[in-house]
Amino acid sequence: MNQKNDQELTVQDNIVVTMDYVLNVDGELLEKTESNHPVEFIQGLGQIIPGLEREMSGMRIGESKEVSVTPEDGYGVLDEEAYAEIPREEFPEDIPVEQGVAILLRDEDGDEQEAHIVEIEENLVRLNLNHPLAGKDLHFEVKVVALREASEEEILHGHVHHN
Ligand code: ZN
Repeated sequence: MNQKNDQELTVQDNIVVTMDYVLNVDGELLEKTESNHPVEFIQGLGQIIPGLEREMSGMRIGESKEVSVTPEDGYGVLDEEAYAEIPREEFPEDIPVEQGVAILLRDEDGDEQEAHIVEIEENLVRLNLNHPLAGKDLHFEVKVVALREASEEEILHGHVHHN
């Protein structure tokens, strides 16, 4: 394979991207990577939200960009149906019944889904099954720290390897 010079690479399919980012939602700082713990992903595999993946396409090492992502291109719109009510007596005893607490629900197929307690009544607990960032506009500041071509094995596995 013809190994390109890193400086010639741009963010495109099958490129391993190392990035730093800051995420602001509703005017509040929500997430910030430290420069010694950047995020890595393989572009084109849907490992990051679609709006961010699309906007980062073509960026070079060292480049920064502000990216605003709508719910449709982020964690989805709020699903008004995605709520569940559990009788309080069936609620696991080891989980504190407090607003905002996250619990993991498992369905018959063994698939896990995170839910958050949104309301507590005398006899029932109401859960929100939406992603916590569903329905939110996301404001990112991203910076490309490093780029390299993914190995065939990484592309096959669909994740980044560290050797
Ligand atoms: Zn692997």
